[in-house]
Amino acid sequence: MTKENNHLALSRKYRPANLLKLLGQDVLVKTLGYAISNNKLAQSYLLTGIRGIGKTTTARIIAKTINCENPNIESDLPVACEICSNCVSFLKNNHPDILEIDAASRTGVDDVRSIIESAEYRPLLGRFKVFIIDEVHMLSKNAFNALLKLLEEPPMHTIFIFATTEVHKIPLTIISRCQRFDLKRFSKDGIKQLLSNVCNLESIDIEDSALAIISSKSDGSARDALSLLDQAIILGKSSNGERITETIVKDMISAVDRRIIMNFIDSLNKNDFAKTIEIVEEFYSKNTDFSIFINELLQSFAYITKKLLAPSFIEDEFCDIEQEILNFSKEFDLEFLQMAWQLCYKTQQNLKNSMNQKDVVIMLSSNMHHILSSKISAANISSGGSLLPEENENINIKKNFDNIDSYLIKLKHLKEFDLYYEILNNTNFIGYNNIGSITFVLQRQDRKLENRILESICSIYTGIVVEFEYDENFVSMKESIRKEVSSLDSVYKISKNFHGFKIVDILMES
Ligand SMILES: [Zn+2]
Repeated sequence: MTKENNHLALSRKYRPANLLKLLGQDVLVKTLGYAISNNKLAQSYLLTGIRGIGKTTTARIIAKTINCENPNIESDLPVACEICSNCVSFLKNNHPDILEIDAASRTGVDDVRSIIESAEYRPLLGRFKVFIIDEVHMLSKNAFNALLKLLEEPPMHTIFIFATTEVHKIPLTIISRCQRFDLKRFSKDGIKQLLSNVCNLESIDIEDSALAIISSKSDGSARDALSLLDQAIILGKSSNGERITETIVKDMISAVDRRIIMNFIDSLNKNDFAKTIEIVEEFYSKNTDFSIFINELLQSFAYITKKLLAPSFIEDEFCDIEQEILNFSKEFDLEFLQMAWQLCYKTQQNLKNSMNQKDVVIMLSSNMHHILSSKISAANISSGGSLLPEENENINIKKNFDNIDSYLIKLKHLKEFDLYYEILNNTNFIGYNNIGSITFVLQRQDRKLENRILESICSIYTGIVVEFEYDENFVSMKESIRKEVSSLDSVYKISKNFHGFKIVDILMES
């Protein structure tokens, strides 16, 4: 390998050079191959898909192949010869008729006008003048209008290829004039295979599990996968010599050891809060970013849920912890898993604004412990038969929270008067949404009250996430009701007629 090759990024070195090498896009390859071989090209193409999936590469392959003077046919596909003057010029990146425009930096109507002007001239070297416009959704409205006129009556020698990650931002009038291809995300297996081939060609020794992690992290983008592999190779060389291990890759992408996550979930299952804190501390000793921890938790809870609902379901990524996941799916119920997932999801969003991520995660853990322990106690109460039938029913027949009033009425039925008044006097209720989360506002943090509310809601309702917010200028629920009542017409009339009239308290209807 030459020194130069050493520095060429793998994603560039292994960029597909022709339709044959374009993996995972069968429909596109077949359709384009047929169109090029049979001179049935459309005058404008639109390529959509996530970043790093090969849109620009595909555009370049089209441009090169249609201008090649002697294309070969391999496996029914036209393949550029790579040696004719057009191919050579293309490979040198200076083909006069293949113009790449980045719409992200050239968004204005003037930029499009210069394209229109240039389109009028016949190609200098090849058969077609090809305009590749990347990130085309970035064009301004006027620019799109100008472009539309061109697309309505394009000169015969021009081909337009638009690429975009955000097709919804492109006017329909433009889309309808293009032949559109939606490039597919690569499968994890497909990416792993690609990486494995590259490693063979480059004589790189890499653990299979390391490849699996990179494939999984690249989220369907071949370019991202190859860049990660590049980084892993550099790290591998600098750390232990030749072999790229799973540990190297995990360190590189700051992946959490799944074992830690499994221990964390196990501590929840065993209701061992001390152990939970210990695990969070252990993570903290080696990492600073808890978002990866929460992210792994989210994935794990999602997988446990899938396992619970479909035990035969298998995700390769989790193969090393398959047994634990299966066990957990037998230990936890769906309700807890859904709540845990939602709590983690919310926590993930809150982490960004937090100065102390560790405490946020510990509070999340306490929440989950609490949900689990109150479920246990609710189960004990209902099986103990010590409650009146009506109350028992309230605990057994769990429903989704519909509004705060019905919750307060339930508290009354359950004779939870203390809590009823505490909620009225010391909290306000600001939200219920149908993904199952409700929010209470307190003036300041009050763990005792918060825990009582949490426990009570968990014992009455299914799938509810309770959140608390704090507001110095907080107005209690009772105070809001008092204000509301005071502003009623009838009350206003009374206050007019009775000097010194005021509403002092709101009492529960007995
Ligand atoms: Zn050629």
